Amino acid sequence: MLRIGGLQKFSLIDYPGKVAAVVFTQGCDFRCPFCQNVNLVLSEKFSDAIGEEAVLDFLKTRQGQLQGVVVTGGEPTIQKDLGVFLSKIKELGFLVKLDTNGNNPDAVKEFVDKKLIDYIAMDVKAPLKKYDESAGIAVDKKNILKSINLIMTSGLDYHFRTTVCKAFLSSEDIKNLLEIIKGAKRYDLQKFSYQSGILDSSLLDKPDYTADEFEQLAALYSVGIETKA
Ligand code: SF4
Repeated sequence: MLRIGGLQKFSLIDYPGKVAAVVFTQGCDFRCPFCQNVNLVLSEKFSDAIGEEAVLDFLKTRQGQLQGVVVTGGEPTIQKDLGVFLSKIKELGFLVKLDTNGNNPDAVKEFVDKKLIDYIAMDVKAPLKKYDESAGIAVDKKNILKSINLIMTSGLDYHFRTTVCKAFLSSEDIKNLLEIIKGAKRYDLQKFSYQSGILDSSLLDKPDYTADEFEQLAALYSVGIETKA
């Protein structure tokens, strides 16, 4: 049974171009210091899980109204029952977007091969030499590269994205990061936002990019995205 910590019943922004519901799974294999989803990452912060059947029952009432379902986290692919859940969503006729940190390429491959997903968004945390620092654990970079390759050759809609926090990524780092997603059709930057409840609260005392600085980075490095600067 999938561990689900939240259900957003309506979203216009989480699945590009589609009206969607968003399902938040509990648990993550990374510990990114800038993570803003602590209540979906640390088990001691989990709220009571929402039953999978309750989510599917809700989706049945939205057939013909919502176009898609976004499955995000936490990290959805750490859950062994995810494939079964995705197939149930597909049986109801919804498009499925999966958000992932890319650490489980075997799961991504399975879902692509079985046509259980229609769109993949992967967080690419940093250039490889700084990956562990940004992910908060020792990451097997082969998994990251495998997921990137799988996604880019999947034939599905996709995008890569990076949360930009000055304490971890310089402009040069982002430039280096682009090397591992060379040829990607869509890449965007997301500004780290200061707020209490992030995984490493010591970041709240450190300087971050100003809005202008961030816009400049986004203009320099985004791919396939309109930026303001
Ligand atoms: S930001 Fe990092 S720790 Fe938080 S959910 Fe995403 S991958 Fe997990």
